[in-house]
Amino acid sequence: MSSSSFGSYGSFGLDPARPPGEAPAERRRSLPVVGGGVGGRRAAALIPYRGGALDAPAAHAGPAPRSVRISVTDRCDFACTYCRPSRHDGYADGRLMTAAWRTMFEALRDAGIRRVRLTGGEPLLHPEIVSIVACLASLGFEDLALTTNASQLARLAAPLRDAGLHRLNVSIDTLDPQRFREVTRGGELARVLDGISAAIAAGFTSIKLNTVVLRGVNDDEIERIALWAWERRMVPRFLEVMPIAEGARLVGEHLVTAAEMRARLAAHLVEEEAVADPGLGPARYVRARRDPSLRVGFITGTSDTFCESCDRLRVSSTGVLRPCLATEDGVDASREARDGDRAAIGRRLDEAWRLKPDGKVWKGCTEETASSVSIRAIGG
Ligand code: SAM
Repeated sequence: MSSSSFGSYGSFGLDPARPPGEAPAERRRSLPVVGGGVGGRRAAALIPYRGGALDAPAAHAGPAPRSVRISVTDRCDFACTYCRPSRHDGYADGRLMTAAWRTMFEALRDAGIRRVRLTGGEPLLHPEIVSIVACLASLGFEDLALTTNASQLARLAAPLRDAGLHRLNVSIDTLDPQRFREVTRGGELARVLDGISAAIAAGFTSIKLNTVVLRGVNDDEIERIALWAWERRMVPRFLEVMPIAEGARLVGEHLVTAAEMRARLAAHLVEEEAVADPGLGPARYVRARRDPSLRVGFITGTSDTFCESCDRLRVSSTGVLRPCLATEDGVDASREARDGDRAAIGRRLDEAWRLKPDGKVWKGCTEETASSVSIRAIGG
């Protein structure tokens, strides 16, 4: 299989003639900021949607929200170079407390959300993360997953499993301790490896790894990480760096496309089209030659954005409902959550979903709005 099963750099979201993150003029739009909570700013109250060509927006034409990513905290103990400018870039005020989260989760379930992923920030830094998972599990969501940097996983893997967490994704960009410290600005690889071992021992199966591949930083480790993951029956996944937040500074020099990553792993992979797990996000997977039950995933957030099939809503740690990772748009439902008013959250959710950009033309994190977004506040 040639690397072309992911297409070429220029044939998808990116036009080689323009800098990454800059949309072509005909679909460049100025989307109003209605929410926030980024980088220390408090989310604004709901502001009616008014925006140039989108004056009277029809309901979003795409699929209804079926999955949600929840940033339970925007705190993180790492400051990965593609995510944050430093460890001191400020945190949001006004985080939701546990009772308000419960109302929010119930309202999401009432609205037809079936799949939940907890993220952040670093979700395992939330002091009540185990209770949060238990609360979600009691509400009967079809899929309950969590993305973590695993720094706290050694002590939390078993309690999280007992609380009802179904699936785990662990972010790990390198297996070299010094490199790890540099990319994460101070993270300890050994703690992450201990966390992964604890998760396997706790009975989590098919743990997925997220590795953001950066040319000249860790792109020489693609094969090593894939083999290392397969030995432990995990699913390595390689992500293109996206021009969101600090990633916007890195894409030009450091982007490695999924097509190139796949080509570098070609000797290990079956020659077949990469396929997604239906309903489980944008990653596309290819099986390993040595054992077809082993797979590797690729996430093309830059060379091939995947907005058309996006059924994802996000909830920030401050209770703002966000329809898209790549914009500041959102509807503040924190008051409704604190008031215990599920029906009102449902109405806010409808308003937020109407702000979702049209996936037929929108190109996700390659749009110009993405570079000023805080991925950890919205929930990466
Ligand atoms: N702290 C958790 C973790 O490290 O997994 C969850 C939050 S983190 C923002 C979620 C994922 O977003 C991580 O896998 C991270 O690598 C990815 N990410 C953050 N910024 C990115 C960027 N600019 N391009 C691609 N992936 C990015």
